[in-house]
Amino acid sequence: MMADFVNEAQQLFSYTQELRRDFHRFPELAFQEFRTAGIVARELNKLGLEISTGIGKTGVVALLEGEKPGPVVLLRFDMDALPILEETGAPYASQTSGVMHACGHDGHTAIGLTVARMLQSHREELAGTVKLVFQPAEEGLGGAESMMADGVLQNPRPDYTLALHLWNEAPFGRISVTPGPVMAAADIFRIHVSGKGGHGAAPHLAFDPLLASAHVITTLQSIVARNISPLKSAVVSVTTIHGGEAFNVIPPHVKMEGTIRTFEAEVRTRLLERFYEIIQSVAGGMGCQAEAEIIHITPPVINDPNITRQVQKIARELLTDCELATDYRTMGSEDMAFMMQEIPGCYFFIGSANAERGLNYPHHHPKFDIDERALVHGSALMAAAATNFLK
Ligand SMILES: [Zn+2]
Ligand SMILES: [Zn+2]
Repeated sequence: MMADFVNEAQQLFSYTQELRRDFHRFPELAFQEFRTAGIVARELNKLGLEISTGIGKTGVVALLEGEKPGPVVLLRFDMDALPILEETGAPYASQTSGVMHACGHDGHTAIGLTVARMLQSHREELAGTVKLVFQPAEEGLGGAESMMADGVLQNPRPDYTLALHLWNEAPFGRISVTPGPVMAAADIFRIHVSGKGGHGAAPHLAFDPLLASAHVITTLQSIVARNISPLKSAVVSVTTIHGGEAFNVIPPHVKMEGTIRTFEAEVRTRLLERFYEIIQSVAGGMGCQAEAEIIHITPPVINDPNITRQVQKIARELLTDCELATDYRTMGSEDMAFMMQEIPGCYFFIGSANAERGLNYPHHHPKFDIDERALVHGSALMAAAATNFLK
C-alpha cells in the first residue's frame, strides 16, 4: 500500500517553505553553493544518513538504505542560483545583490530535504537504496558532469533516476510527465564575421561586416523554416551581436552568439550543416568571411517510456486534485540529460504559476516567484515515485 505522501508533505509544508525561503534569501552562484550545501548536509545528518560532501566541488550525496535489499534509485535536486538582480520585493527576497534564485532551484533543494525526511520515516517499507543527489551548477556550467567525474553514478550504481522542475510555464495544479524527449539538446554558437573596415560615408571602399551579419541572422532563420521537417522541432536564436564603436566608421569585425536547440541527433546534424553553409556563403557573398565555433552543452533529456508510465500512474493516483499532462515538452535544456544518458529515468514538471497572485513570471525573470503550494506536489510525487521503484 502506498503511504499518504500528499498528507505527509502537507504536514511538512512549513519545514519545506522555511528552507526554500532561506535558500531564496541567501542564493549562491554555480559551484559556490557552500552555505546551501552546508544546510543540506546538516539536515541530512539530522536524519542519520551516510553523506558525502564536496562531490563535483559543492555537491552533496546521501544514501538512504531501506530495510530490505533492492535496486538503487537516484533522486537529483539542483542548488544553484543565477546572476540576476531580484525585483520581486518579497519578504524573503535575495540578500545578495545581483544573485537570485530565479529558476526555482531553492524549491528543488527544499523538496529534496523534505523527500529525505519522508523516505527516512518509511525505511522499513523500502527494498533498496535511495541515492539523494544535491547538485551544483545546473545553469549551463557543468554541475552534473562534475559530479559524474567524482563518481556520483558509482558505488552504488543507480538503476533508475528521477528529477523534477518547478515549472512556471504551467499553472499550479498541472503535473507534466511525458515519455521520450522532454527537454532539448543545447548548443552555444559564436560567429565571427570579418570584413574590411572603412569610412561610414565611403561604403564602396569597405566590406561591411554589419550588413553581412544582418543577412546571416535573417538567413539562419530559414534553416528551421526550410531545411528541417515541419514535423520536427528545432530552434536557432541569435541572442547577441557586437560590432562597431562610432557612427561614421564601418567596423572590420562583428561577433554574434546564440543557441541551437534540437531533440534528435539527425535534426541537429542537418541543422549544423546548414548553419556552416549559410554563414560562410552569405558572409562570403558580401565580401566578408565568417567563422563559427559550436559548443555542445547538453544532450536532450529523454524519459524512459516504461519508467515514465509508472510515474504517470503514481501521479494520477496520488495527486487526484491535479491535472496530468502527458505530452508536454520544452526546448529548454538540462544537464540531468548526462546522468539520464547512462541511467534510465524520468524528469517531470510541477506546475507552479499562479496568475491571480502575480506568480507567473517566466524562469530567469527578475520577478520570478512560485506558488509555494507546488512544493507539496513536488515532494509528494518524488517520494511516491522513489518508493514505487523500491517495493
Ligand atoms: Zn534555469
Ligand atoms: Zn532550472
